[in-house]
Amino acid sequence: MPVSKEDVLAWFDALAGVYTANQERLTALDAAIGDADHGSNMQRGFAAVQTELSTNVPADIRSALHTAAMVLIKTVGGASGPLYGTFFLRAAAACAGKAALEPADFVAAFKAGIEGIQQRGKAEPGDKTMIDALLPALAAMPGGLDAATAAAESGMLATIPMQARKGRASYLGPRSVGHQDPGATSSWLLVKTAAETWRSP
Ligand code: ADP
Ligand code: MG
Repeated sequence: MPVSKEDVLAWFDALAGVYTANQERLTALDAAIGDADHGSNMQRGFAAVQTELSTNVPADIRSALHTAAMVLIKTVGGASGPLYGTFFLRAAAACAGKAALEPADFVAAFKAGIEGIQQRGKAEPGDKTMIDALLPALAAMPGGLDAATAAAESGMLATIPMQARKGRASYLGPRSVGHQDPGATSSWLLVKTAAETWRSP
């Protein structure tokens, strides 16, 4: 089933709820290896996205994703705001002119978004970042969003034994080992929420 503009808006509605429900969990993860703001960053950012998208209803999918990007960049301080902002900015560009996304279009948009995150943040697999959940999700995505969610979850769990080499957690050096990366966790939630929102009845 193709993804419509309404489906994309439903995803952002759901994300606002999911990041509010997971705010404490994400903050606890960031408290261990960062500065304890990832939960509030994601909650604030996606609540603002939802408000903006429901106030100024976008004309199409590209515009919805572009608005989300701008709001995230504006409202989220910290590393994750510009990185997720870049993700949605690149995804928006990949969706230009499309009234609906076929599965292959969605995979292409997701891929473009991840490439943007990597260009901006320079993280490679194994650096203990959101990339460690997103790249496995992308690889599994041709098999569907449930497969992508499972791959993102495995990637997220695989960050636990890693030593952080990017972002604030890298300042801890070996002391970052043994903790799950907060950004990999919010990225898993991003994919999981798409799967749950767009599951065919
Ligand atoms: P900050 O670290 O500025 O407080 P957040 O706490 O909101 O920002 O986000 C932290 C998350 O951002 C990390 O858990 C990690 O997944 C992600 N991150 C940090 N730096 C990078 C980077 N260079 N590339 C990809 N992801 C990164
Ligand atoms: Mg933080």
